[in-house]
Amino acid sequence: MNFLPLTPPGQTPPRVLTIAGSDSGGGAGIQADMRTFALLGVHSMVAITAVTVQNSLGVKGFHEIPTDVIAGQIEAVVTDIGVQAAKTGMLASSEIIETVAGTWRDLGLAGTPFVVDPVCASMHGDPLLHSSALGTLRTELFPLASLVTPNLDEVRLLVGIEVVDEQTQRHAAKALHALGPQWALVKGGHLRGSAHSPDLLYDGTEFYEFDAPRVDTGHDHGAGDTLAAATACALAHGYSMPEAVAFGKAWVTECLRAAYPLGAGHGPVSALFRLQA
Ligand code: PLP
Repeated sequence: MNFLPLTPPGQTPPRVLTIAGSDSGGGAGIQADMRTFALLGVHSMVAITAVTVQNSLGVKGFHEIPTDVIAGQIEAVVTDIGVQAAKTGMLASSEIIETVAGTWRDLGLAGTPFVVDPVCASMHGDPLLHSSALGTLRTELFPLASLVTPNLDEVRLLVGIEVVDEQTQRHAAKALHALGPQWALVKGGHLRGSAHSPDLLYDGTEFYEFDAPRVDTGHDHGAGDTLAAATACALAHGYSMPEAVAFGKAWVTECLRAAYPLGAGHGPVSALFRLQA
């Protein structure tokens, strides 16, 4: 695959912010985002929203960071260092979503690429967002997003559509776009039985399809975070949205091919393959 342009040593690379939760097992969340950011050559900044107690077997619980500390992290890096793109992951609660949305608006970041990955639950089904917060995600954060990247379970929760084929995927993309983001990506990676992983991008006018062979690994923890993180990096480099999503998809496909077993449960997708390139 073609990687993003690298910045020469000693020069400041593009700066990308992740607003997300920590995964103590190191497979998803902030840890996955920072791994992808680093291996794509951008400077990582973080606003931690929650600390999960997690291993390869699942999420045992989480602690939410106070909202003033979350707003403070975002403000501190935006006002000093500057942000070329940001992404959100686990946001846990309505209060945290409102804080992130309010801070984004107050800092005048409307023109900055903003990828919202509407994380609702882990692959084991453990909740990472209180169900009462779904409405806040739709009404407060989606209208600020350059791109939303739900998987099929999240699509069902957010817009009540069961995606089973191309037609329902298009229907879902339209319903998501109607909530206010500039672009909606409906990821087809969970379309069971398909030998492909067809993702569909929509900007309110045109559909763009991104297909890749389905990589059937038992170890795909952190795949969603990794796709959104890589897409944010490409946007920070000034790629158009279809180019950035194509890049994110190619990156996560390679990370899926490089996934490894870990502990007694699900292993993570791995950006470490880049070190061998
Ligand atoms: N833990 C954290 C902190 C996350 O942000 C995420 C996903 O965004 C997960 C766990 C779940 O990852 P997966 O669905 O790949 O298990």
